[in-house]
Amino acid sequence: MRSELEPDLRDDLEAAVLRPAEASVDNRLLTRALIVAARKSGVEIHAGAGAESLWIEGEACKGLIAAGERISAKHIVVAAGCFSAQFTARKNMRQSVRRRAK
Ligand SMILES: Cc1cc2nc3c(=O)[nH]c(=O)nc-3n(C[C@H](O)[C@H](O)[C@H](O)COP(=O)(O)OP(=O)(O)OC[C@H]3O[C@@H](n4cnc5c(N)ncnc54)[C@H](O)[C@@H]3O)c2cc1C
Repeated sequence: MRSELEPDLRDDLEAAVLRPAEASVDNRLLTRALIVAARKSGVEIHAGAGAESLWIEGEACKGLIAAGERISAKHIVVAAGCFSAQFTARKNMRQSVRRRAK
């Protein structure tokens, strides 16, 4: 039962708290569902190909560069968490990355 609820718990664990009334997301299921939904919506997934940089021409962002290849996209969302700043190294882009107002 314990391993069904949380397979990553150690066998010699002395105690744990189960809160059945609290909600949590199974990230493995969520990720699989997101991949299926994204593909159905026409999203092209380039797994394992880390983005190297944005593909900028003049003032326009045309897409991104990954594994030395240019991948064009109509819209770009930088969602690399704490690594996002590396994509906004150009002075005029850095200004658009700012703390969200409270
Ligand atoms: C130990 C820990 C516990 C936490 N617990 C909680 C919690 O209980 N509740 C809560 O609300 N928040 C929690 N947080 C915070 C939460 O994880 C972050 O706020 C959230 O994940 C940020 O989401 P994000 O999408 O901005 O970035 P991330 O989740 O960091 O996602 C960024 C993704 O971009 C990918 N990436 C980076 N660089 C590149 C690149 N060059 N090319 C392609 N992909 C790239 C990364 O691999 C990563 O998958 C926790 C954080 C930590 C570290």
